Amino acid sequence: MIGQIVADEARYVMQTYKRAPVEFVRGEGALLFDDEGREYIDFLGGISVASVGHCHPEVVAAIREQAGELLHVSNLFYTGPMVELAKRLSESSLGGKVFFCNSGTEANECAIKIARKAARARGIENPEIISFDGDFHGRSYGSLSATPGLSKNPDFAPMLPGFRSVSFDDASALVAAVNQNTAAILIEPIQGEAGVFPLSDETLLAARRACDESGALLIFDEVQTGVGRTGSLWAYEQGPVRPDVITTAKALGGGAAVGACIGNAETGEILTAGDHGSTFAAGPVAASAALAVLDLVDDPAMLRRIRSLGDDLMSSLSAIDQVAEVRGRGLMIGVRLADGIPSGEVNAALLEKGLVANAPRPDSLRLLPPFVLTDEQADRAAQVIAEVLAGYHPVESK
Ligand SMILES: *Cc1c(COP(=O)(O)O)cnc(C)c1O
Repeated sequence: MIGQIVADEARYVMQTYKRAPVEFVRGEGALLFDDEGREYIDFLGGISVASVGHCHPEVVAAIREQAGELLHVSNLFYTGPMVELAKRLSESSLGGKVFFCNSGTEANECAIKIARKAARARGIENPEIISFDGDFHGRSYGSLSATPGLSKNPDFAPMLPGFRSVSFDDASALVAAVNQNTAAILIEPIQGEAGVFPLSDETLLAARRACDESGALLIFDEVQTGVGRTGSLWAYEQGPVRPDVITTAKALGGGAAVGACIGNAETGEILTAGDHGSTFAAGPVAASAALAVLDLVDDPAMLRRIRSLGDDLMSSLSAIDQVAEVRGRGLMIGVRLADGIPSGEVNAALLEKGLVANAPRPDSLRLLPPFVLTDEQADRAAQVIAEVLAGYHPVESK
């Protein structure tokens, strides 16, 4: 019964999350099942993690097989899946060396260390990293300091020095903020936690140019946008610029904890022995899971399917009277509701009707469905959203 687990969680788990009142016990493809056997369509995917669907048979098989062979030996030795994964990641993106870790936060931590060390090598004593307001880069002190919306919380002061932010997608503010101390521009190509806000091509080009002129690194946090989410393996592939470093995690392990910081020919050489490390990173099980995920996602047919599903979903959502704006790319979708419609309340009603979504800001829903969604599931989900919104006033003169 949901009552007991709620009570035990409240008694024994630090209360850092606001959980919805559901206990999930099983997942299959784009579906989740709760403890009472109720079925849900999952339009959140464990926050962009279950991209190939829950318990994808090939991911499960890879984990099972590897778990029976070798679980862990640390990074003091060679393991096959880890090296193979590095090769896959490098060859599918920037072509340089890869550092492995266990989360998006840690991937950004590595990128911050690369940026600071590269700046130091250029004689910069007080390196600065610039992000956009609304960016989310994680919750360790480095990545938290690069997360403007959370870094101002006085409870956790002081933050690391050397971080600043400028207003979102403001190319001239970004260019004006770059100076001789700039170590890197660290940005999400499409803000995820903020509610799905893509950066304009103009801003991306300005960021690239400012980095080229100053010697700073352009770092893309692709923790949420990467591994197929936007309809290309990496989001940057659809934009006008190539970053110097990308970070990934979330969907990479299909549910197993694995993250990576990927460099190019230069940035992949900056960290050397002793500079950074992790006990668990890219252990055989997590790396095998990630290889199975990449086998499924790094496939033109799959990436095409993500784009067409996303286009169809965005157009059916746009047609709903109470929807004011649909933002995003591929299957990373933000839905702004008509003025005054509270997204949190809508999201709770969606859950009651068997649709798992997310309300990252008071005016918007965020949808991150698995790529294995069927057309029928996509239609049903759009219909549930339309049904719930039908209880509210439509957008005036849409
Ligand atoms: C989720 C997220 C992170 C943090 O990843 P964790 O695995 O939770 O540490 C960092 N950056 C972006 C863009 C994210 O969406």
